[in-house]
Amino acid sequence: MAMMTGDQYRESLKDGRVTFIEGERCDDPSTHPLLKTAVDVAAGIYDKLYKPDPDAYSPIFWIPQSKEEMQQRQEALRGAADMTSGTTSVSVMAIAMAAPELAKANPVYRERIYNYIDYCRKNDLRLAETVTDAKGNRKLRPTQQHDPDQYLHVVDRTPDGVYVRGCKMHISAASIEHELVIFPTKSMRPGEEAYAFGGAVPVNAPGVTIINTTYAPHDEDKRHYPVSSRRNTPEGFVVFDDVFVPNERIWLDGETEYAGTLASALGLWERTAGGAMQPREAEDRLVGLAALMAEANGVANEPHIQDKLATLMIFATMCRAGHEAAWANATTNEDGNLIPSTIFISATKYYQHELEDRMVDILHDIAGTMVTNAPTMADFEHPDLRPGLEKLLETPGFTAEERLKLYHYIRDTTADALGGWSSVTGKQAGGGQFAQRMVTARNYDMERAKAIARRTVGIGQEALATGKEGA
Ligand SMILES: Cc1cc2nc3c(=O)[nH]c(=O)nc-3n(C[C@H](O)[C@H](O)[C@H](O)COP(=O)(O)OP(=O)(O)OC[C@H]3O[C@@H](n4cnc5c(N)ncnc54)[C@H](O)[C@@H]3O)c2cc1C
Repeated sequence: MAMMTGDQYRESLKDGRVTFIEGERCDDPSTHPLLKTAVDVAAGIYDKLYKPDPDAYSPIFWIPQSKEEMQQRQEALRGAADMTSGTTSVSVMAIAMAAPELAKANPVYRERIYNYIDYCRKNDLRLAETVTDAKGNRKLRPTQQHDPDQYLHVVDRTPDGVYVRGCKMHISAASIEHELVIFPTKSMRPGEEAYAFGGAVPVNAPGVTIINTTYAPHDEDKRHYPVSSRRNTPEGFVVFDDVFVPNERIWLDGETEYAGTLASALGLWERTAGGAMQPREAEDRLVGLAALMAEANGVANEPHIQDKLATLMIFATMCRAGHEAAWANATTNEDGNLIPSTIFISATKYYQHELEDRMVDILHDIAGTMVTNAPTMADFEHPDLRPGLEKLLETPGFTAEERLKLYHYIRDTTADALGGWSSVTGKQAGGGQFAQRMVTARNYDMERAKAIARRTVGIGQEALATGKEGA
């Protein structure tokens, strides 16, 4: 029981897990061409964080109790962000956030949660957030679906635990992690006890099968996929075919009124991880790319380009402001665990992803059609072609090769497989845009807003003398 090195992590994945990709069973994700990169990135993070001290543990398992501790955690994890560290952080934070509330359903649940986190911490495991059910007809409740397995549910029980069946979809990095932390998708009602389930099983538990998808490029020249060829993650349909969950790994079992507690804790931390748990660079990178392309195209001083760059800068600044506000307004739960502000997280996520495609449009507008039509690097390197291409592509301040690198970066990240994946993921992960609106509305202080309006207009009991406040 100690921290793992990258190689130990690679070995740990050869545990009999059942995973499929592109129609074939894959027994060792660390050697599969479409999964290997994700494993290598995760292994690199294991090596980066590794400490030989047998009592050392990964900062991924720190549960901060103050803003200062959250900042220290961010520092400790600087340069150690990938999907596996993200989903592990989110899973741990979410069950720790829900623990005191679940203790009201059954005091043993809180103890089991902290024991489980301790077990994962001591064994340096990576945890998948296993939430999204198939859901069938969204207007029907779980018990009304044409097939009862549309939502994961308990199908049998013994004195030692329960058997669960169903499928959790789109589970990031599931095939290259160790544990599946199961959350209900949403609140449950009386009569839906079998569906109110929370707990965890190992990825190699008998009955678990994972069917992967990935945007990882196949055999393409890596120079055209500078990001997606070096950092990618599989998502998996995780099928539970009567999987046994022992009692000590169960923290919700039929208490329908607490299903929402687990679901919303996961939702909050998932949205947080997408935005505020790491120092942000993505929006500023977008601004920087657009500014460099404007310079490369010689249009940086054009008023309409400067206007568009200002739009991007406001977008980047507002996203950062929202995430910083989420931490500035953080609270703690009964166990002292820090919780970012729900309303700032949801509203910022909504704002960011409502506008992000438009911001990418601005980048494409400034960069021009070469985003998709830039010659390949192999053509650029061909001795018959290079002199002509160099002449055509270089502009003051930028060599032809630099411009090609910019275009291939922008295409890979915004206009190809990874770009499409990012656009959909940004809006969907952590619940769709509708969920962000709903959560924001639920947490917004409407009474305060109405009181301000009444006072300002002078139709309430506390009419303002000046009429300026709240205007
Ligand atoms: C790349 C990626 C990674 C992901 N990783 C994970 C992961 O690690 N773990 C995980 O658990 N999930 C993960 N997800 C899944 C993600 O959380 C879901 O896709 C998201 O919650 C939306 O669910 P859905 O796709 O089923 O769409 P739905 O929620 O079904 O939404 C589809 C549409 O139906 C509407 N709708 C839904 N229900 C109703 C209703 N009752 N009444 C009226 N309208 C309704 C919605 O508003 C929306 O317009 C991932 C998703 C992506 C894209």
